[in-house]
Amino acid sequence: MTVDWTLECSACAAVSGADGLPTVCSACGQPWLVRYDRRPDPALRGVLRERPATMWRYREWLPVGQGEEPVSLGEGMTPLVRAPTLERALGVATVWIKDEAQNPTGSFKARGMSAAVTRAAAAGTPRFTVPTAGNAGVALSAYGARAGRAVRIYAPRTTPGRLLEQMRIHGGEVVVQDGHIGDCGRASRAWAEDSGAFDVSTLREPYRIEGKKTLGLEIAEQLGWTLPDVIVYPTGGGTGLIGMWKAFTELRAAGWLAAEARTRLVSVQATGCAPVVRAWQAGTPRTSAWEDPVTVASGLRVPAPLGGALVLRALRETGGTAVAVTDEVLSAAERRVAVEEGLDMCPEGGAAVAALGDLVRTGFVRADARVVVFNTGAGWLYR
Ligand SMILES: *Cc1c(COP(=O)(O)O)cnc(C)c1O
Repeated sequence: MTVDWTLECSACAAVSGADGLPTVCSACGQPWLVRYDRRPDPALRGVLRERPATMWRYREWLPVGQGEEPVSLGEGMTPLVRAPTLERALGVATVWIKDEAQNPTGSFKARGMSAAVTRAAAAGTPRFTVPTAGNAGVALSAYGARAGRAVRIYAPRTTPGRLLEQMRIHGGEVVVQDGHIGDCGRASRAWAEDSGAFDVSTLREPYRIEGKKTLGLEIAEQLGWTLPDVIVYPTGGGTGLIGMWKAFTELRAAGWLAAEARTRLVSVQATGCAPVVRAWQAGTPRTSAWEDPVTVASGLRVPAPLGGALVLRALRETGGTAVAVTDEVLSAAERRVAVEEGLDMCPEGGAAVAALGDLVRTGFVRADARVVVFNTGAGWLYR
């Protein structure tokens, strides 16, 4: 298939065609962003609900050709669940939890992997690899199985056992090693060079962002083509935050959202690994590597995110902010929502809920606000 989109470097002026298997910008090593010439007609908004309830209902916004079948397990279209107990406790008018636990493989990693595996399989990749804190490995294992390709996953020894088990259930080969996800990334890249496997690490290829972009497309559709005042997002590599920022920008440019529709994006991290929060508070345009990252929220244990500069830009451009919470506080919030609202929160989702409390106390979130908080995955996978 010839692709009808191009790639633009997120950091320098480089542009490139997108045939084959793009990785990062060949000039500066920073992530590519996909640019489409298409301008989907706003009239399509009315047609969407007649399509199947997966993220591929937004195919005009996604990297697939006409008539091409994506590698899909029915990911996306997760509910926005009202959280009335939280609303009362915090004194905020409207709090929705975007429950990404309801995706195939139990987390929102399904969205990015569906898009990345679709493109790499179409380009003829025989096998895949990824370094993971847990959920990315489970998702790649499942989508690799779906595409009929071999998968090897590199995971830190601290990864919860249940997550390692789920990676193996879909046939993935799991290599457990000492260190954090950065150390696993080096091993995964070395193996990719030796074996010809394609490495789908966060932002080392351009399509996981496009899959995560559907988070933003969905929120806009679910809220009747309006945006909430604030979105609270637990940030590790930052793919989802960058993806939503890209989604809202593209929707406005095509007239699917009003030109003045705005939402403030908030990055939440754990105090034991908070490179984005540290850079935000220091006012620097880039993140610097976090020494000795430690947190039970394994998806947030990303000490040197490749997309750090992009995350900071998204926070600045949307009038957002960045907040860190302790493991103790995020675990308490996780339990509280599980008991009071009936949702199986992951620790990262607990972090987002805990941060919302801080945002209310500092006045960043006002009493009349409409807020979306992310539960990025299923809690049972960690226990
Ligand atoms: C990967 C992951 C995150 C972080 O996602 P990014 O988009 O890479 O920042 C948060 N929560 C969970 C459960 C994850 O698996």
